[in-house]
Amino acid sequence: MEPVYLDHAATTPLDPEVRAALLPWLGERFGNPSSVHRAGRQARAAVDEARDRVAAAAGCASREVIFTSGGTEADNLALRGVLERWGPERGRHLVVSAVEHEAVLTTARTLAASSRAELTVVGCDHSGRVDPAEVGSAVRPDTVLVSVMLANNEVGTVQDVPAIATAARVGNPRVLVHTDAVQALGRLPLGLVELGVDLLSLSAHKAYGPQGVGALVARYGVFPAPQLTGGGQERDRRSGTENVAGIVGFGIAAGLAERRRSAEASELTRLASRLTDLLAEAVHGIEPTGDPAGRLPGLCSFVVPGCRSDLLLAVLDELGVCASAGSACSSGAAVASHVLAAMGFGELAGCALRLSLGRSTTGVQVEAAAQRVGAAVTRVRRGTGWPAG
Ligand code: PLP
Repeated sequence: MEPVYLDHAATTPLDPEVRAALLPWLGERFGNPSSVHRAGRQARAAVDEARDRVAAAAGCASREVIFTSGGTEADNLALRGVLERWGPERGRHLVVSAVEHEAVLTTARTLAASSRAELTVVGCDHSGRVDPAEVGSAVRPDTVLVSVMLANNEVGTVQDVPAIATAARVGNPRVLVHTDAVQALGRLPLGLVELGVDLLSLSAHKAYGPQGVGALVARYGVFPAPQLTGGGQERDRRSGTENVAGIVGFGIAAGLAERRRSAEASELTRLASRLTDLLAEAVHGIEPTGDPAGRLPGLCSFVVPGCRSDLLLAVLDELGVCASAGSACSSGAAVASHVLAAMGFGELAGCALRLSLGRSTTGVQVEAAAQRVGAAVTRVRRGTGWPAG
């Protein structure tokens, strides 16, 4: 049985072009970008070129890109760095949405638990959409940062970030706005100005780049306090010798992502809609989650009554389908999704299924996956004695 990988929202395979570009930096090219000799200068030039490519894809200036170890570090740098830099002067109040990735939500809660921040968590509607007006009313004179993700990793709902940013600044013109755009690179248009944000997080491995590298884009003049101090790399914003191979790969991946974005998005949307139709026929009671009108291309998410996520994923794995419940961290464990809980799914929050399509997904794979999901659901429901099974 051919395995079908439908977990691109967890991570994507390395694009062959990306692999070819980064391999020399794991071999004959090994200079430290901070060294003044030729090997160092060559590495510096490669990092600079990658920075230009990432900036072009993210819609910002090169100097606004801070390379990090990934999306989690970028989110941490945004929240902790802004609070540390501006908190004493402007206040300690943070506003985040209830559907944020753990990298934002847990960080915000940790800051609040240690009294370094006061936190307001704004809810969402049944499709996962955050109301800009609600964000606006949560903002106070002492709010220092608002963080609302561009596209949700569990249900794919795309937020109206420009409207959220505008609403946030009505109450407090000095408030900074961050968006976690980790799932959006290569799938949605980006741009600091277009989105109206001051800070934006990216991760290479969600866009066919390597794992362990990402970036925080910080608008010129916005200087989050560094959370890693040392040699002063990244213009004093993030110390540590650069992950040159990773950064080179990220640059190529970002360029490809942007070039292929619109063609890929329409193909992914077509395949996702076919998969959703097939599953509606194959699985009694399955319910799509997320916003049908504004969602990430290729991300299909559902609740499957009578099927606990961990049981369903185990059977799907046996049947050769790599899927997930929601975020990679919680898949495989019997943990109910905080996103679905915020969306009002109650007990069904423990019955999530996410199938995320990617660049190499074919129509044949979609048909096979639908058939196997149907078989897996029947098996799980039979095992648990679900009434309609
Ligand atoms: N933010 C979102 C929306 C994500 O989906 C992820 C990864 O799952 C992250 C942040 C964390 O990124 P990384 O895996 O690069 O640390």
